Amino acid sequence: MFFIGIFGFGNRSNKISDIKFKCTGCMNEDFSLVELYNSFDIFFIPVFKTKKEYIIICKKCKSMYKLKSSSIEKVLKTHSAEYGDVDKIMYETSTCPRCGANVTGNYQFCPYCGEPLKK
Ligand SMILES: [Zn+2]
Ligand SMILES: [Zn+2]
Repeated sequence: MFFIGIFGFGNRSNKISDIKFKCTGCMNEDFSLVELYNSFDIFFIPVFKTKKEYIIICKKCKSMYKLKSSSIEKVLKTHSAEYGDVDKIMYETSTCPRCGANVTGNYQFCPYCGEPLKK
């Protein structure tokens, strides 16, 4: 079928800017602000954009936080975000207090040394 692959929905993301936010996982303050949206494509050209979300990603440990829609304007203007601007944590990396390993995902115990991780 010729048409398969020409029309489609896809997830797209655009990096908008660098941003300051205190990472809950690694205490780094360098973040990327990313615009995430679903789009409807024809011939790989996005025809219209649907649901849009703003995500900030820690450059060091890749923890991801979704911003509240009411805070987006402020964050875009000030290039910084606070905990109150975060809607939810999408993905968090924690550092093991015992062996110092970066643990990604929702582990109760460190997969490297078995130390219980705070939650
Ligand atoms: Zn981090
Ligand atoms: Zn450990």
